[in-house]
Amino acid sequence: MNILIINSGSSSIKFQLIQMPSETLLCTGLVERIGQKDAILNYKTDLVDIKQIEQIENHSDGLQKVVDLLLNAEKGVIKNTNEIEIIGHRVVHGGNSFSNTTLITDAVKQDIKKFGSLAPLHNPNNLEGIVVAEQLFPDAKQAAIFDTAFFQTLPEKAKRYAIPKALFTEAQIQVYGFHGTSHKYVTEKALDYLQLKTSKIITIHLGNGCSMTAVVDGKSIDHSLGFTPSNGLIMGTRSGDIDHAIVFYLVNSLGYDLDKVNTLLTKESGMLGLTGYNDLRDIEAQAANGNEDCKLALIMNAYRIKKYIGSYTAAMNGLDAIVFTAGIGENSSLIRGLVCEDMDYFGINLDANKNDIRSKAIREINTKTSKTKIMVIPTNEELEIAKQAFELMN
Ligand code: ADP
Repeated sequence: MNILIINSGSSSIKFQLIQMPSETLLCTGLVERIGQKDAILNYKTDLVDIKQIEQIENHSDGLQKVVDLLLNAEKGVIKNTNEIEIIGHRVVHGGNSFSNTTLITDAVKQDIKKFGSLAPLHNPNNLEGIVVAEQLFPDAKQAAIFDTAFFQTLPEKAKRYAIPKALFTEAQIQVYGFHGTSHKYVTEKALDYLQLKTSKIITIHLGNGCSMTAVVDGKSIDHSLGFTPSNGLIMGTRSGDIDHAIVFYLVNSLGYDLDKVNTLLTKESGMLGLTGYNDLRDIEAQAANGNEDCKLALIMNAYRIKKYIGSYTAAMNGLDAIVFTAGIGENSSLIRGLVCEDMDYFGINLDANKNDIRSKAIREINTKTSKTKIMVIPTNEELEIAKQAFELMN
């Protein structure tokens, strides 16, 4: 079965065509800078690797160009659009309505639109991708895979904020959680690997956005992102946990308006705010050259993760494994090393040699005697979406 995965953003469409159940990747690509004269279409199969720069007016135009390539006699991988049986759409916000992947109906589209007020940067674009895909692939089924679904198991004590109850019941202000597809994917891989009857693990997703999830027996019980993807860990450009009274101080005493505060905390803070650099590779290189801001930012970054490991271990009353994933988690032995330093109280003992080995494989990087397993598991959100769409069809 051929499954097309679509992740539709404000000015981009990421796509992959995956054959299931063999999990064979037939093609992958990205349309960027939609709406501009010099939009970029990347398209890659086993045989071709194309980069086209051309005007792409809108999402419909972008996806049509992808379809043209998919069907192209030389570069394509299918002969007819009806060879694609289901399209799996990443949808960021499913509110409290969706705990599972679901077939898209008019009612589901209405809900995705409704939750747009909670994810204004994501849901409207996700919906646009769905509407365009319905037109271009009239024979295919369409499924929505929600980033928030994995967190539907959070107990009330973890998902409620200590604010007046009506804001929860009437305005749905609560923890929703994000990066759910990634946390779910690495959780399943970890549990397959660990083969425990009962399990208490912490998944640590460190990319441009960063988050951690406490998972008991495969179900999330706490998570570091909240009502929006701003809370918790120090991220590329987002501050993570912060005293909210700083917002009032910025507005009342320093003359910021709310838009400026929002930009400051989401686009100019985090590692970028601390160092002037956003990409962790640059920060590591600068730190190695003696840049004190970069050295401190790396320590702060790891310290925040350590604190969450401590609190989630307390919440679960135990810890079998921690799992590092995403760009930083999979690649930065430095961050992993800093996080695991002086954590023997939690049974965490890193094997420095194993930590330094670069690999794309699922691996353990703890010492033989470490009570807690330390794992590195490459995430694959597209494959997780394909798996869920495949399960839905079966
Ligand atoms: P996104 O959230 O955009 O999907 P990724 O999961 O791709 O992000 O992670 C991006 C981050 O991973 C960047 O900060 C980048 O610096 C970091 N990263 C990628 N490769 C390495 C590496 N070899 N060493 C350290 N950091 C890395």
